[in-house]
Amino acid sequence: MSVVPEINVIKKDWRKVDLKVALCYPNVYRAGMSGLTVKLLYALINAREDIACERFFIPTGRESLRSLESNQPLRKFDVVAFTLQYEEDYPNVIRMLIESGIPPRRNDRREDDPLIIAGGPCATGNPEPLADYIDLFVIGEAEPVIYSILDEIKSFGCCRSRVEELADIRGVYLPDVSERAERVWIRNLDEALHPLAQQIPLVDDDSPYMPIFGKTFTLEVVRGCDRGCRFCLIGHTCRPKRDRSLEKLKSIIDEGLEYTPVNKVTLIGASLFAYKHLEDLCEYIVSRGLELSVSSLSPESITDRLAELIRLGGQRTVSIAPDAANAEMWRVIGKGMSEESILHAAETLLEHGIKQLKMYFLVGLPGETMEDIISIARLSRRIADLGYGLRSIHLSINPLIPKPHTPFERLGLSPISHLRECLRIIRRELRGDGRFTISMLDPRHAQIQALLSLGDRRVGSAIELAAKYGGGLGAWRRAIRECKIDLEEYIEGRRDGPLPWNKIKISP
Ligand code: SF4
Repeated sequence: MSVVPEINVIKKDWRKVDLKVALCYPNVYRAGMSGLTVKLLYALINAREDIACERFFIPTGRESLRSLESNQPLRKFDVVAFTLQYEEDYPNVIRMLIESGIPPRRNDRREDDPLIIAGGPCATGNPEPLADYIDLFVIGEAEPVIYSILDEIKSFGCCRSRVEELADIRGVYLPDVSERAERVWIRNLDEALHPLAQQIPLVDDDSPYMPIFGKTFTLEVVRGCDRGCRFCLIGHTCRPKRDRSLEKLKSIIDEGLEYTPVNKVTLIGASLFAYKHLEDLCEYIVSRGLELSVSSLSPESITDRLAELIRLGGQRTVSIAPDAANAEMWRVIGKGMSEESILHAAETLLEHGIKQLKMYFLVGLPGETMEDIISIARLSRRIADLGYGLRSIHLSINPLIPKPHTPFERLGLSPISHLRECLRIIRRELRGDGRFTISMLDPRHAQIQALLSLGDRRVGSAIELAAKYGGGLGAWRRAIRECKIDLEEYIEGRRDGPLPWNKIKISP
């Protein structure tokens, strides 16, 4: 029996399928099942009667690393498919392989070991750090390419030595074979499959298996973003922005809730704020007596009507991402925003009874001065003065981690001392003000993220060692030292020369 009881689990008779795919999320169940990716890939692959797809997560408790559906180990599958959403999960990829008795390096694998494939935003941005460990990367979105890949694998009987035959499929990157790989994406979101029967854990609210948004139907409204903020990976590797029509979304909700009996709908999509029917969609959900959850919004999208609908839908906290706090820094990061629009949005939310705000800011931006950091505190205080109460505004401060394919790809990560100083200044400016809680990603973790984001193939051996040593900061320090990786070389920025992700063609 599975460690976590769920509805809508798909269990197939292995004797009746031609191919078995292990879908791996390299983190715990709660993290993997809070988004749509796992549910979407699971539905997409299982839509094929000849293929069985089962899920794997990093164990939450003492359970063993086995599939949720049939309790089988990873090595019993023909294909092991990882979705790479966050670079910090890379050691977990290697850990899952090692713990399953699969040689982590692709050149050490035997003919009868599963084929290891990986996709997701991190794989698309820069596959090189894991290139010695993954047989095949999917560059871009899964829908246009996944069946072609699985059909080919099926046709050659999962024979490892024939994997090179996949090199001609657009969207495939084979390390050591592909000279170049082109990103693929779906043109029309209305025609794309949306999971209707979603997996919901039958656990208590305080269970470690409960997803972040609770028992909810996750609805992908838009995909990609056209805004092009200069730091944003999604804004540069997931273009163009595509919408689902309002009619389509309504029918997905109607049908989806028949299969997924929950009373909450969570809207997702990088540029959800730009969806032109957002209010009508929220109205539809609320009018059906459902709860509503909306991910990060832009200030200008927060109207009276939307704020009221969010309140009626039971959402108590709204997230916005100003990322900077003055005109010059907004110009630097290419984010069209103004203080007035943020204040107006915060006031509108408050007037409609939404009393909790989460705001994201970046520090370590190019050309940043301490005055710019002070302006983050100043803007936050002006917002709080609109009438926000005790512990009602959470400031999430994040170091700028340069990302591949963005205009900041050759920048470096700010020194740890500077990042700590930024946090110290914000805390100092807001000291004694009980309306705020403040958090910041540990700059040492930011260094590891930058290494994995900007790294090349040499970084792989450090990932492997970090996985063997447990994956924490101490493990990383030891791994970097033993692999003789010059961390500074990677994270201080590259003025010129080729970049590790040059083989990946992202356009348009
Ligand atoms: S930061 Fe947000 S608005 Fe800007 S490009 Fe990325 S997803 Fe779009």
